[in-house]
Amino acid sequence: MLGGVRPSGARRSWWLREALAAEAAAAPHLASAAPPLRGTITADVAIVGGGYTGLWSALRIAELEPGARVVLLEADICGGGPSGRNGGFATNWWDEYPALLRRYGEDGAHVVGEAIEEAIDMVGAFCAANDVDAWFTRAGSLTVSAAPAQDGAWDEAVDALRGHGLGDRLVPLTAAEVAARVRSPVLRGGVFMPAAATIQPAVLARGLRRVALERGVTIAEGSEVVEIDGQRPGSLGALGAGARRAPARRPNGVGLRPVRIRTRSTAGDGEVLAGSAVVALNAWAAAWPWFGRRLVTWSSYIVLTEPIPGRLEDIGWTGGEGLADARFTLHYLRTTPDGRIAIGGGGGRAGFGGRIGEAFTDALDDARHAAAGLRHLFPSLGDVRIEDAWGGPIDISADHLPWFGSVRGRPIHYGHGYSGNGVAPAVVGGRILAARAVERADDPALALPLAHGRPPRPFPPEPVRYIGARLIREAAVRRESLEERGRDAGPVLRAVSRLPRRLGYRLGPE
Ligand SMILES: Cc1cc2nc3c(=O)[nH]c(=O)nc-3n(C[C@H](O)[C@H](O)[C@H](O)COP(=O)(O)OP(=O)(O)OC[C@H]3O[C@@H](n4cnc5c(N)ncnc54)[C@H](O)[C@@H]3O)c2cc1C
Repeated sequence: MLGGVRPSGARRSWWLREALAAEAAAAPHLASAAPPLRGTITADVAIVGGGYTGLWSALRIAELEPGARVVLLEADICGGGPSGRNGGFATNWWDEYPALLRRYGEDGAHVVGEAIEEAIDMVGAFCAANDVDAWFTRAGSLTVSAAPAQDGAWDEAVDALRGHGLGDRLVPLTAAEVAARVRSPVLRGGVFMPAAATIQPAVLARGLRRVALERGVTIAEGSEVVEIDGQRPGSLGALGAGARRAPARRPNGVGLRPVRIRTRSTAGDGEVLAGSAVVALNAWAAAWPWFGRRLVTWSSYIVLTEPIPGRLEDIGWTGGEGLADARFTLHYLRTTPDGRIAIGGGGGRAGFGGRIGEAFTDALDDARHAAAGLRHLFPSLGDVRIEDAWGGPIDISADHLPWFGSVRGRPIHYGHGYSGNGVAPAVVGGRILAARAVERADDPALALPLAHGRPPRPFPPEPVRYIGARLIREAAVRRESLEERGRDAGPVLRAVSRLPRRLGYRLGPE
């Protein structure tokens, strides 16, 4: 079914190739507007990582402090990582409501849920205001059971929301109501999240880059950060040494020494001396000793079909809704304006020690899991040609939610742990990190409980983390695949796949 197509690997995702082609046609000068850093420069704020988190942070700093000298350092090109590779679902966190209640209590959960919902508005507003044609489509998102074992996977969230007067945020659908939006013999009942949107992810990333450049942010692409304040990536991770929540304002005198960041590029070595730093590295953060033990890196693959607008009409999926099944190793699908389906997930694999290598971009077997998911969920589309495939790394945290903090005693602020849901949360993350970087203690973003959470519990050290994650992943995939075919997974697979939850991690099937 992959039709000879290999995942892009070092090549760009289909989204990013499309975005770069449109950019080259409309504004060719932009390609060379972010040359690698060479020599030493000073800055008020240095940002490490040119995905959504880094770019939203840069834009917010430019808004809060128009005169600030902001330098963004990106090893690849902006959007070369998951921000230009993801599924393009801008979903909110109402389906995470029970976890939000546990983390933040009732008031906090509500406030955080609203903030992520507003972030989806902000993505749409940014695109409209800046002429970024990222296909922002607010058609909602469906989570649908594709097997009896998945039925009611959303019940706890629906009940909790109803109990707090938020029942309209996540609306249960009968099988007939699901079929009115999309038809398949496999799909059963589901739940609808009305406020969710889909986007062309790489167009958004490149649009953020363009606007950041227009607002005076210096961007150095092809500039790999190899040292921050004396710390280098590559350690297997002490227990997040020094990475703790810090007060929004620095205590007197602490942090006045500039943050020294060293880079490496084809142009030579570079150095930034900055008043503060934002570390927006997503899965790559797992390689840095400050953060390593709090993240598991995980691969996710997407395949893209040829345009099939007529076939989408046949199955009634013409409303633009995002769609996911209710597996833990979920499949997520969305359509494109020219009538393609992009489907991702279905498996993925853990990385070792925070290293992001070819397993995250070139594992053909994992792309096949996504393609098999399309065949399973829509048997009538079994003959549809797959035209592209690509993968990328996800930064999994113990409670499946991101967190934002600062290195103890230093003006180095970080955010990661999106766990595969970062499109909308990164907007909020950027606001939190920007307010910290320019010390705006009164900024509303810093009043959010999300800005003050304790870091999630650490994962075991390597190699236990890697071996454990692999075993549990195999058990979860096998269990969910059997259950999908109506078969009993048996007590051993069930017990192993439930192990993370028994150990207090919000990961793996129930
Ligand atoms: C296949 C896939 C599908 C996904 N689907 C969805 C989805 O549908 N909806 C959703 O909400 N989320 C999704 N996600 C997750 C989402 O893409 C991320 O949460 C989000 O992009 C995180 O943005 P970021 O800026 O924090 O990280 P990134 O986009 O990863 O940016 C980090 C950047 O840091 C750079 N970098 C790394 N090391 C260095 C270094 N040493 N020096 C300088 N730069 C460095 C990288 O090149 C990268 O560009 C998906 C992820 C993947 C992989």
